[in-house]
Amino acid sequence: MVDSLTMKIGVLALQGDFAEHIAMLQHLGVETAEVRLPEHLNGLDGLIIPGGESTTIGKLAVAYGLMEPLKKFGQRHAIWGTCAGAIFLSKDISRDQPLLGLMDIKVERNAFGRQVDSFEADLDVPEVKQATGTKHDYHAVFIRAPIITSVQGAARVLASAPDGRIVAAQQGHFLATSFHPELTNDTRFHEYFLSLAD
Ligand code: GLN
Repeated sequence: MVDSLTMKIGVLALQGDFAEHIAMLQHLGVETAEVRLPEHLNGLDGLIIPGGESTTIGKLAVAYGLMEPLKKFGQRHAIWGTCAGAIFLSKDISRDQPLLGLMDIKVERNAFGRQVDSFEADLDVPEVKQATGTKHDYHAVFIRAPIITSVQGAARVLASAPDGRIVAAQQGHFLATSFHPELTNDTRFHEYFLSLAD
């Protein structure tokens, strides 16, 4: 188990559901900080980039001078992107919008199509089960979710949807999930991220 009480985790609070991530982290006893400016990264052990709208998050990150500081922060610290955050962390989305490019993954936005704007699925995530000493599947919530279409270099697949499409990837201390663990009561993905930030 991670000693979460000594950690301080930031949540990028430019747009999207950052408040839900903060509530989840506080529930786990972690000290949190909202990150809106480069100096807010000082003293953090890790950072979560929430779901929302990746184009808006990217534009605001450029406007607040956060792009380079976030890339630099990622050289030494864990970063987890959920949904729009996963898009923002990736290297390639086949269109032009600001990206951190920290993870060697390709992502397709809104890839599940209109009919299934939102859906839920049970995922088998062996690493998360092992890290948290649990056996049951992870119930994931998808909202206008992206798909990770390819995982390259040092990145690897962490979880796939029942139809085989990749929905979570890890590259060292970087984590990308196309679903929203902050919108559930299951804290296991947050615990797993804390183990990467430790
Ligand atoms: N569709 C959004 C995007 O492309 C992501 C949706 C979400 O974060 N729930 O940025």
